[in-house]
Amino acid sequence: MTQAQTHEHATKPDFKRSSTLALANKRLGSAMDAATRRQDNGRRAIMPELGDPLAIRELGARIKNHTLHNLDRYLTQLVENVRRHGGVVHFAETGEQAREIITDIARQAKARTIVKGKSMVSEEIELNDALEAAGFEVAETDLGEYILQLAGEKPSHIVTPVLHKTREDIGKLFAEKLGIPYTSDPEELTAVARRVLREKFRTADMGITGVNFAVAETGTLCIVTNEGNGRMCTSRPRVLVSLMGMEKVVPRMVDLAVMLKLLAKSATGQRITCYTNLMTGPKRPADADGPEEFHLVIMDRGRSSILASDYWEALRCIRCGACLNACPVYRKLGGHAYESVYPGPIGKVITPLLTDLAMYNHLPQASSLCEACFEACPMRINIPAMLLGLRSTLVRTKQAPLGWRLGFKGWRMGMSSHFLYSWGARFGRWGLRLLSKNGWTSWLPGPFSPWTQYRDLPGMAPRPFHRRWANLKKELDEEAGR
Ligand code: SF4
Repeated sequence: MTQAQTHEHATKPDFKRSSTLALANKRLGSAMDAATRRQDNGRRAIMPELGDPLAIRELGARIKNHTLHNLDRYLTQLVENVRRHGGVVHFAETGEQAREIITDIARQAKARTIVKGKSMVSEEIELNDALEAAGFEVAETDLGEYILQLAGEKPSHIVTPVLHKTREDIGKLFAEKLGIPYTSDPEELTAVARRVLREKFRTADMGITGVNFAVAETGTLCIVTNEGNGRMCTSRPRVLVSLMGMEKVVPRMVDLAVMLKLLAKSATGQRITCYTNLMTGPKRPADADGPEEFHLVIMDRGRSSILASDYWEALRCIRCGACLNACPVYRKLGGHAYESVYPGPIGKVITPLLTDLAMYNHLPQASSLCEACFEACPMRINIPAMLLGLRSTLVRTKQAPLGWRLGFKGWRMGMSSHFLYSWGARFGRWGLRLLSKNGWTSWLPGPFSPWTQYRDLPGMAPRPFHRRWANLKKELDEEAGR
């Protein structure tokens, strides 16, 4: 596994290096661009079906705001109702605790094989590594996650984790790892994965899933998938563990309906996700299937600190991935370059907040602040404003890179002094004139060189605006006086 594909960092990620490598990979760039545009266009096309999409998005945001303001109350209600239906609830303050709780459950259940649905929270805590180290066989059952498990890679997108791979890549991987003849036909590849995974489902002792939403008033967990693997994970094995971040709760079933409408449309441009599973407690005597034993693990891991901070609105996120698909930076880089579990716009906010701002101080800077993420977000999370807030904290606490801080100090001095500004502009104009061809500069020296590495810089106007304005005004005055 390359460093760009690991998420937990003992040392600071080298974003400059990973983003340079990603930009140099033309095949990755075109695969990401095509896939994200397709998903973004799908979202744009289906949203008008909501009638007044902005009103529904604001309703969704209000539901989450109300829930977050009363999180203690709704978590208590959720726990009571899960227990009332025969489930066992565990609280984990840290990722380490969540790993220990789940490993202990697997040990007590004497599990050997564990089938797992897609879960970004489990990625956060590198759950597979912990379970495998404890001797359990873990099979990812979401097709994208299964491909990544075979490849030894991490997700590059929070909804479509294998977005960075082409079907040819997957054909080669299956031929190498599963010993089948090479094919790039998606149907054939899916049939192969289905055969392998059916056997895993048949023999698994334990299932693990994430949770899209947990309904407090009933103790019901909602898990959405497009492949039915979530349904198999929750219904087939004897023991089931569902892992959720503490912000995933919604108060009532009617609130869930709003969230489901927004999630499917924003994530994949679908009216509704193919399999929307609602699960309330373990199997009852009259039930045809379901787990005999059900555990819900509710994890904090930095979320209560976010709730108490100026960035609490980031907890409204329903992990739809729309901000990733809309983001011009993510489209160019793909997910691995961010070197964090959550890539793209929302990742730039929550990764430093959930972990360490100094360690991830590159993430708030990796944005053009174009606001495409804010425009796309069904939960109306103002990501650009949060990125500015984080940048401000970085500067105030001297955690921003030295070059960045000095650069902005120089910029502030230049912008607040007429003398420095006009002479700086004059030097800039002369310099660019020497370096440009046909009005465009393709190469800048020293610290300015990254700007022209992937784009050209337009030349400055031959005369500054204030001089042109003064001349124009003079001409107009003369004309008026004639
Ligand atoms: S921030 Fe908004 S758009 Fe991005 S994943 Fe979360 S809910 Fe979706």
